[in-house]
Amino acid sequence: MYDVIVIGAGPGGYLAAERISAEGKKILLIEKEHIGGVCLNEGCIPTKTLLYSAKLYDGALHGDKYGISARDITIDHSAVIDRKDKVVKTLVGGVSMALKSKKVEVIMGDAQIKEKKDGKIQVEVNGEIKESTSLIIATGSDSVKPPIPGVKEGLESGFVLTNKEILSLKEAPKKLVVIGGGVIGLEMASYFNSIGCEVTVVEMMGKIAGPTDITISESLKKEYEKKGVKFYLESKVTKVDDKFIYFEKNGEENKVEADKVLLSIGRRANINGIGLENLNVYTERGCIKVDEKQQTNIANVYAVGDCVGGVMLAHTAYREAEVAVNNILGKKDRMQYNAVPSVIYTNPEIASVGESEQSAKEYGLDIIVKQLPMQYSGRYVAENEGGSGIIKIIVDKKWNTLIGVHMMGNYSSEIILAAATMVESNMNIEEIKKVVFPHPSVGEIIREAIFSI
Ligand code: FAD
Repeated sequence: MYDVIVIGAGPGGYLAAERISAEGKKILLIEKEHIGGVCLNEGCIPTKTLLYSAKLYDGALHGDKYGISARDITIDHSAVIDRKDKVVKTLVGGVSMALKSKKVEVIMGDAQIKEKKDGKIQVEVNGEIKESTSLIIATGSDSVKPPIPGVKEGLESGFVLTNKEILSLKEAPKKLVVIGGGVIGLEMASYFNSIGCEVTVVEMMGKIAGPTDITISESLKKEYEKKGVKFYLESKVTKVDDKFIYFEKNGEENKVEADKVLLSIGRRANINGIGLENLNVYTERGCIKVDEKQQTNIANVYAVGDCVGGVMLAHTAYREAEVAVNNILGKKDRMQYNAVPSVIYTNPEIASVGESEQSAKEYGLDIIVKQLPMQYSGRYVAENEGGSGIIKIIVDKKWNTLIGVHMMGNYSSEIILAAATMVESNMNIEEIKKVVFPHPSVGEIIREAIFSI
């Protein structure tokens, strides 16, 4: 009998297991594929490892802008993939060690929720029934595979890839078509463009980068067009054969040739076949429905991470896991999503937190919008020859608080934390003005934007 069973050892599951075990509870973590989940094995970490190599390569190729000349610079894609494997192994090993040192019992197997009897929740794994007082479901998500003619066959033949397969591709394609210009699609487009592939992005919406503020998304698109990436927006893929991707744009049929296709049109919660129906756990639009404590409609059954939908990011999964754990331990805590930062690790990076100009207007808020070029930061100028980074801030006029920050430019992924802290704590503009920023730092751009109001 356990205090808590956790299903899924991705960021949501392993963090919940570690935290709860640290409180002296008896815990069982069940994982069917790999410790670390999507994030460590085929998501956040592998993509960033590849993108770092691409950034170094790009820097070396364009070193002349900074007075550096080098010859015969090459990138070995296969070696990049080998390094990625090494990084993943190190980090997965680190998580496994942490689980061990925190005395979390781990079983590798496919878990299925069975029933709740006399307050005990039963879960079956490897033919055995395990019982606990509480359950945390953290089964994550998988790539959406749409019923577009040819996609299924393409996935079988290896012509069409998801994030999982593309991250292990030993030989880079000459021509890559990316279906879906969201986070995953853009990061992979960025990597393969940097290493010399011909990249085309086909996106159904009128803009790239999903809900990103339109100014930032258009600026990023321009950056990548300059680098040679082709974008087809408002374009719906209708068919894939073994050479071409067919799509409809403005009522006309077009096609583009590829050696490989990346399918990155979104993620779907992993909730089928895990036995939710045995406890009558409610779902909504394909995800587990939870309240602000991360509790499902069934007492003592919680769900965290991608399987609850919404903001499918590792850092959201971490925080949701903490909220679930605190509530299991009887500590009051609730999940809030108003200041979850989001980053796309392209080169330049883009990052945002809080309301965009569009969403603030949709909510009917009276806002002040300020936009500045990153060139207002001395360090940005020193390190980004010819860079066209921008920052856009959104201020609520009524309360004089910062409610949104959107940036394009390198280090945005790090700077956004400061902005998230300000938005999360409803900081007033006058309070932000008193914050001392290190100089020279690209982060000073926030201060510049605030003082420009
Ligand atoms: P997952 O990481 O999906 O883990 C769920 C685990 O549950 C899996 O290991 C699975 O095997 C296991 N499981 C499922 N069903 C069962 C079962 N029945 N029994 C036992 N085990 C089961 N997020 C960021 O914040 N930053 C990024 O830079 C970023 N980059 C990404 C890049 C890519 C290419 C992708 C695909 C995703 C990226 N994400 C990123 C998203 C991030 O990976 C996810 O939000 C995060 O992994 C979700 O964590 P999780 O714990 O909910 O689930």
